[in-house]
Amino acid sequence: MTKKKCSYCGSTWNPEKDHIKAKSKGGKTTTNACQSCNRSKSNDSVLSWLRRLKKNKEYRWTRIKDYQKGKRNEIASKVRKVANEK
Ligand SMILES: [Zn+2]
Repeated sequence: MTKKKCSYCGSTWNPEKDHIKAKSKGGKTTTNACQSCNRSKSNDSVLSWLRRLKKNKEYRWTRIKDYQKGKRNEIASKVRKVANEK
């Protein structure tokens, strides 16, 4: 069995299903997210969560940024967008 990885930071620690778009906003697409990412993201959209991390949670933000480096997917493009914001 392949180990599931968190789609945000690449951690293999207890990945859970995360709704890319918060369930409360009609989100149906799911991805794997580790407990730390899932809990800190909560009901936020990916973009506003990443902005929050960049401001307040430097450690997690850096981990996610490093893991997404060079990747081509929706999450990676959002990470790049937020990384380029001032
Ligand atoms: Zn994670």
